[in-house]
Amino acid sequence: MSRFFTSRYRHLTPYQPGEQPCFNSFLKLNTNESPFPPTPQVQEAAREAAGKLHLYSDPECTALRQALATTYRLSPRQLLCGNGSDELLYLAFLAFCGEACPAVFPDITYGFYSVFAEMTRVPFRTIPLLPDFSIDLFHQDLDQGTIFLANPNAPTGLWIPPEQLRAFLERHSRQLVVVDEAYVDFAGESALGLLEQHANLLVIQTFSKSRSLAGGRLGFCAAHPDIIADLNTLRNSLNPYNVNRMTMAAGIASLSDPVSFSRNCQRICQIREACRHALEKLGFTVTASKANFLFASHPAVSGKKLYQQLKAQGILVRHFDQPRISSYIRITIGTQPQMDRLLDALETILLTRKESL
Ligand code: PMP
Repeated sequence: MSRFFTSRYRHLTPYQPGEQPCFNSFLKLNTNESPFPPTPQVQEAAREAAGKLHLYSDPECTALRQALATTYRLSPRQLLCGNGSDELLYLAFLAFCGEACPAVFPDITYGFYSVFAEMTRVPFRTIPLLPDFSIDLFHQDLDQGTIFLANPNAPTGLWIPPEQLRAFLERHSRQLVVVDEAYVDFAGESALGLLEQHANLLVIQTFSKSRSLAGGRLGFCAAHPDIIADLNTLRNSLNPYNVNRMTMAAGIASLSDPVSFSRNCQRICQIREACRHALEKLGFTVTASKANFLFASHPAVSGKKLYQQLKAQGILVRHFDQPRISSYIRITIGTQPQMDRLLDALETILLTRKESL
């Protein structure tokens, strides 16, 4: 830390992303990326847009918002695009939380929420997940503040169905509820359909997972136009050209190909279910994840050991050294051959352990 660093941030612990090795051939099952590259059409659209990189990008993301509006049957006025959904989450903390309106979220959830709360210097409260990792939607601490719910939750993968979410939005109609749907395309119906009746809902989605564009950095959010206007006030005070031309073009091309999109989502879900079954056969406990990852623990080997021993075999998964979940590893769903390699490696780890007893 330099002596110039403001005292405001001296105690800030930044978010720790999963490892992103640059120069080796790890099998990466640690950051919930898609194993499928963008389609040739998406790549071509980005290449074409590169020819205009000398010009700033459209600060309103007009064409992309129109494409999103058509895809999700919304009005462009209900939509805002971001440099990844992380940027939109950050803007939501800035815009809708404060001294009198704390941020509220589960104790086990996406790690960035507490970092954003610290960074924006807003108070936050956490709701303890129930022993089965589900969210107690009737917890009294949810009765005040701006609520952040990842749905499916990360890293558990557990999913709140829309009926429950609808009732929740009604009970909390005086508060803003931010639903982070980073993994929704692997789960079920989006909360976007609830926007018409619920002016207290902000839905955030990403192109990073189901749309194979993690490296492009593209997210979007949808809400009542007044909520979008608030977020735009802050975005335009920070970075009006927040989505670059190539990413914008890639996003539009991705939305114009619903067939590849749903085929890839289906493939991931099929591989996830097969992998869950195989893990259970090996003695793992696996949560009912509806995301593009599984969250699994084994009674015989700690989460940390599993992580380390898989890494030694060239496979990266995610381990969170946190109370209640330290026995688990989070495994991103890859292609079937990739999951076969993971399962072989896990089998070897378990066998070696047995032999050494
Ligand atoms: N929300 C959740 C729950 C996530 O797991 C992630 C990915 N780390 C994000 C948001 C952010 O995704 P991105 O910024 O790539 O859109």
